[in-house]
Amino acid sequence: MFGFDVDKIREDFPILNRKINGKALIYLDNAATSQKPKQVLDAMQKFYEKHNANIHRGVHTLSQESTQMYDDAHKNVGKFINAKHPIQEIIFVRNATEAMNLVAHSLDFNEGDEIISTVMEHHANIVPWQLLRKNKGVVLKFVDIKEDGILDLEDLKSKISKKTRLVTCTHASNVVGTINPIKEIGKIVHEKGALFFVDAAQSMPHVEVDVRKMGADFLAFSGHKMLGPTGSGVLYGKKELLDKMTPFLSGGDMIKEVKLEESTWNDLPWKFEAGTPNIASGIGLSAAVDYIKKIGMKNIRKHEIEITAYALKRFEELKDVEIYGPKDPKKRTGLIAFNMKGIHPHDIGGILDSEYGIAIRSGHHCAQPLTERLGQTSTARASFYIYNTKEEVDVLIDGLKKVQKIFR
Ligand code: PMP
Repeated sequence: MFGFDVDKIREDFPILNRKINGKALIYLDNAATSQKPKQVLDAMQKFYEKHNANIHRGVHTLSQESTQMYDDAHKNVGKFINAKHPIQEIIFVRNATEAMNLVAHSLDFNEGDEIISTVMEHHANIVPWQLLRKNKGVVLKFVDIKEDGILDLEDLKSKISKKTRLVTCTHASNVVGTINPIKEIGKIVHEKGALFFVDAAQSMPHVEVDVRKMGADFLAFSGHKMLGPTGSGVLYGKKELLDKMTPFLSGGDMIKEVKLEESTWNDLPWKFEAGTPNIASGIGLSAAVDYIKKIGMKNIRKHEIEITAYALKRFEELKDVEIYGPKDPKKRTGLIAFNMKGIHPHDIGGILDSEYGIAIRSGHHCAQPLTERLGQTSTARASFYIYNTKEEVDVLIDGLKKVQKIFR
């Protein structure tokens, strides 16, 4: 571990040398996707230059090497989240969205089964369950949030029942940044005998995720938000559950034996990875895990709390600005969603980009119900990661002051 040296970390990210409209890029759209360090890019390039072959089906050297690398990538990711069976319980998918769809399709839901989601979810954790309601007649309920954007556990307790098959919620919100008390939620869910599915898309890059400590039966995340490549995502599932589930996608590699009458399934996790997978992306994700481990999650979190606390303080200088989510930086990840009175978030984003080279996001952030619950139609969102600095926050605040001047 080399501790936390932002300048040194920045050297690993070639894209941070980009100029945007003549200004040094200030990338504050990390909640949408993070940038990639050269260690991740190198791992993927090395795979293509030296080892590329299809996996699990060749006796030749390259195929054996690529198979080993791909299997090891599962193991590395599995250990990172403390899975009991680091390979079997780790299914590589394209993204968190696919992981949620996999569970929605593969668990044997019956008409009348209850699924509980929440109003603070990303669309990826709402729409698959709505489709299940349409196709299978499950009953769908949503837990509300409290004032500070934290999930209302009393509301969860009042909605969960013996009929509840699955409760799903986000570990950290992509709009208000809240980190939910996931262990406590897991306990409530299991006391009722339901399954617990955690959306860790926004927490995995920022806080320790231990599937066993949090009591997750399933957990989904995307590699591209945690320094890994696009096209890499993970569904974690407890082996005993995955064993009983029917594959979502079918075809090559997911079978043990195929007869014209019927087929049998391959062992875990391959039973759920039909066809040629995104091998290079899986290897890139494993390199991203190594990079995060080298810096240390505790150091990442410390940096993030510091920069978020600093940004929240500096935001106080701005008049007519509303910030959403908990005030305490320890209760949130490093993102700040806000609105400026009388100015559309798209205008804020446009001016910051053209005048300051700052990338932020504006819109409903694929969480329309939550944005509406906040009484808004859209928000502007600045989200920080390991390579962001307090100086960049200063430029953001200067930029926001300029935006207000332009619109005054
Ligand atoms: N859940 C949350 C909380 C997210 O923020 C996102 C991405 N914005 C997703 C799920 C979906 O991730 P992906 O688009 O990579 O599938």
